[in-house]
Amino acid sequence: MAKDTILISEIFGPTIQGEGALTGKPTVFVRTGGCDYRCSWCDTLYAVENKYRHDWKPTSAADIFTKIQGLSQNEPIMVTLSGGNPAIQPFKPLIDMGQAQGYQFNLETQGSIAQDWFSDLDVLTLSPKPPSSGMDTDWNALSNCISAAKGVKTILKIVVMDEGDYAYARDVSAKHPTLPIYLQPANHTPPTENDDRIDIAGIMERTRWLVDRVMQDQWYDANVLPQLHTLIWGNERGV
Ligand code: SF4
Repeated sequence: MAKDTILISEIFGPTIQGEGALTGKPTVFVRTGGCDYRCSWCDTLYAVENKYRHDWKPTSAADIFTKIQGLSQNEPIMVTLSGGNPAIQPFKPLIDMGQAQGYQFNLETQGSIAQDWFSDLDVLTLSPKPPSSGMDTDWNALSNCISAAKGVKTILKIVVMDEGDYAYARDVSAKHPTLPIYLQPANHTPPTENDDRIDIAGIMERTRWLVDRVMQDQWYDANVLPQLHTLIWGNERGV
């Protein structure tokens, strides 16, 4: 693979952003292949597991941008760089190319790998993974990501499955009190190869629990939002 190519799992849209601070905003998704994590409830395993790597296509920044322009019909739009972990990929040329034409870029990453080009983003969404993911947080790496963003709008987004995750979210927020934080009730029914059904009632029940929990603690800086795309389209891929 050439040094500057980006490993692409899929590019799709425009659709709406379904999570975090940009929920509801029209966007094109660029999803990369490969991740340094393996979360127990990952809902994009096709962009994570090695067995899918033959589906990931090394693509130049110019070809990715041509595809984005085609999807948005040359109208500048927010581009969401997602994965997998997109922070592994060399995104600076694509960001430069897109911004020159009025496009904006939001990177979504777990915060395990910092890159100099984070300071070129329009939005950095960091979603460190709570205990229910089965992953450990490298707190230095997370801080390095925040520092690398150098004044770029940076947002925390944390999936909450249970009390342990909630305590983790409070801890992350205490460590980085100036960053806006979005809490997202976990989807207990992530898609598998044979089953993409969704438990909407369960998601709503956990959302109510999370709202109650935040109110009990008078945590008025927190924002609670379920995944909008899951409520609209369930576990369907590429919407
Ligand atoms: Fe999946 Fe994200 Fe976890 Fe990677 S960091 S395994 S893409 S949920």
